[in-house]
Amino acid sequence: MKYVSTRGATAPLGFSEVVMAGLAPDGGLFLPEYVPDVRNRLSSWRSLSYQELAFEIIRVFADIPEGDLRVIVEASYSGFDHPEVTPVVRVGPVYVLELFHGPTLAFKDVALQFLGRLFDYLLQSRKARLNIVAATSGDTGSAAIYGVRGRKRMRIFVMHPQGRISEIQQRQMTSVLDENVFNIAVAGTFDDCQRILKALFVDLDFKQRYCLGSVNSINWARLVVQIVYYFYAAFRVMEKEQCKSVRFAVPTGNFGDIFAGYLAAQMGLPISRLILATNENDILKRFFTTGEYRRGKVCTTISPAMDIQVASNFERYLYYRLNQSASAVAALMRSFESTGCLTVEPLAHGRIDSLIAAGSADTASTLGTIRHYYEQYGYLLDPHTAVGVKVASAFVNEATDPLVSLSTAHPAKFPEAIIRAVGRDVARHPSIDRLKAMPTRLDVLPAELPVIREYIRQRAEAN
Ligand SMILES: *Cc1c(COP(=O)(O)O)cnc(C)c1O
Repeated sequence: MKYVSTRGATAPLGFSEVVMAGLAPDGGLFLPEYVPDVRNRLSSWRSLSYQELAFEIIRVFADIPEGDLRVIVEASYSGFDHPEVTPVVRVGPVYVLELFHGPTLAFKDVALQFLGRLFDYLLQSRKARLNIVAATSGDTGSAAIYGVRGRKRMRIFVMHPQGRISEIQQRQMTSVLDENVFNIAVAGTFDDCQRILKALFVDLDFKQRYCLGSVNSINWARLVVQIVYYFYAAFRVMEKEQCKSVRFAVPTGNFGDIFAGYLAAQMGLPISRLILATNENDILKRFFTTGEYRRGKVCTTISPAMDIQVASNFERYLYYRLNQSASAVAALMRSFESTGCLTVEPLAHGRIDSLIAAGSADTASTLGTIRHYYEQYGYLLDPHTAVGVKVASAFVNEATDPLVSLSTAHPAKFPEAIIRAVGRDVARHPSIDRLKAMPTRLDVLPAELPVIREYIRQRAEAN
């Protein structure tokens, strides 16, 4: 399978090149030349284990020899603490798809445990090295570090704003003492971290000389791996309910997770509705209800991984919504970059998208949802998951298809929100409890590009 850019000015490339490149050279995002139709395989895939299913789905998209791919998939999920990897549990009116059984207790582990190993594999055959540089406001950094730690051909440099992330988030990252992991506390804000990151990648000379790589959510491999749990969950629920299709609700930030569901539906998985859920940062909800995508100010909420205004994967959706016209995508994105706004006309039936519905939940109703689910069903939702469940609840009685709400983090990662919701510190997990006693390492640097560039250069040159 070959991949093309959403902006149309990049020659088609294979899977491995696309994974190594991240962003397309023309500034667009990579997508497959066509979305494979897997309808005739659904019945044989139903009975597969998570790992077997992951192998089958990734194989459709990736040019990796079968034996090697099997090894990578097996290793990626061996560290999850549930035999089903992403189990589905019934909680009151919804099914909850638990995506937090990986090492950092957030759904990003599902993709980054795989991506770290995939990079390692691709670098080995190229006899190359990679220096991953990332900026994090909390959640992505730890999942990326756990995906890359201890790998000989890779180093990872993660910048976080000093003193501006939670103690748990900081300890999760800085307690990883492997030689190839570098935590940088930047004396500044998250915006400073992002500005420096961007400047490092724009410096093509530096980027090439030191083989800089990225693990952010625009990497195509992350999406492929996330498609798997939509299939896995749909099979479990269709079997249990003896139904022919399901709906999913997805708490959304960068539009990565929900876009994987959109692809699963295009591939032929019977998804009758995708419900997009945002917190107060609701640019995507406004788009799917009005057709207008207008940048707003980011506000801080109790679901920080969703405090995003401009969603990096949205361009991929636009490409399909504009009937795969790369020139139309490029024109709209250019206009968005200069005006902060773009508009899409409704479809014939008046909706913006026939599959995707959208809603948002504010802090009070998110806290109320956590409390209600705890008191009523004895189940603790993390604040991101609660946004999804709250928005989903408006759809529960509307149709007969069961509703699966994606749970993107374990509640023990967000104890302050849980205490606010239920009044007590009831969210515990042994791996979080252990963090307090673990030694940590980090370097504090000023928010200055030359200083950080020199820090990376020195370590990238050492062997
Ligand atoms: C990253 C993240 C999200 C948002 O996922 P996107 O793919 O960016 O939409 C939601 N919840 C948690 C806990 C996350 O870490």
